[in-house]
Amino acid sequence: MSTPTSARTLGEEQLRVEDLSVNYGRIEAIRDVSFSVPAGGIATLIGANGAGKTTTLKTISGLRSVRAGRILFEGEDITRVPSHKLVQRGLCQAPEGRGTFPGMSVLENLDMGAYTRKDRRSAAYRADLDRVFGLFPRLAERRSQPAGTMSGGEQQMLAIGRALMSRPRVLLLDEPSMGLAPKLIQQIFAIVREINAQGTTVLLVEQNAAQALRTADVAYVLETGTVVRHGTGAELAADDSIRAAYLGGDV
Ligand code: ATP
Repeated sequence: MSTPTSARTLGEEQLRVEDLSVNYGRIEAIRDVSFSVPAGGIATLIGANGAGKTTTLKTISGLRSVRAGRILFEGEDITRVPSHKLVQRGLCQAPEGRGTFPGMSVLENLDMGAYTRKDRRSAAYRADLDRVFGLFPRLAERRSQPAGTMSGGEQQMLAIGRALMSRPRVLLLDEPSMGLAPKLIQQIFAIVREINAQGTTVLLVEQNAAQALRTADVAYVLETGTVVRHGTGAELAADDSIRAAYLGGDV
């Protein structure tokens, strides 16, 4: 797998979150969160358990309603656009690892990922399937296997592959490394970089801050529902307070 970052150029912000606040009943999960994701880049949100990372991602992808603030995708306000419409418009979140359809085969799951497309069975569709199988050879080998019998790592790959079948211009990933063995974590991050090098902008939410900061062009730190720091991945990885709080001296 290539190490792609050098060939890329980052564009204007493709996704922008402005002063976003989200509640669960009376519980304020995130408050006045603002950040942006550059076109062609990888952005990451890092933070401890309960910081609001998943809530932020789910809200962007239309699965939670907003109390205040707005979300702009390629300049258009998508704050209240439902999830399936966002997928059609090119913004898609990979479900968390176990979000695959367990009784369906790998191929059927990938097919479900393309449900919003009108060109299924076309050459373009087959090319996208080949792209997913190129990124995840394991899925090609296991194409007839029921998703529910795949390992955690394989299901994580399938969840990402399924999202890619909708041809997103921006891919949202919620903790793709969660629960995986170290070797597989490295592999998943390499695949994320490869997906980005192939032209997909990525917003990555991670508890694995060390890997996330190594991978991301821009990074935001969430603490108890607000953004407390931001910078390039390299800047934050080199910052003593970030290292102490999130990296355990491990970058
Ligand atoms: P983790 O890394 O542990 O997944 P996170 O950063 O993704 O954490 P969120 O899952 O977004 O954090 O949670 C943010 C806050 O919102 C937490 O205080 C959490 O308890 C609360 N919360 C999340 N989901 C719900 C829910 N369905 N009902 C009530 N509170 C919720």
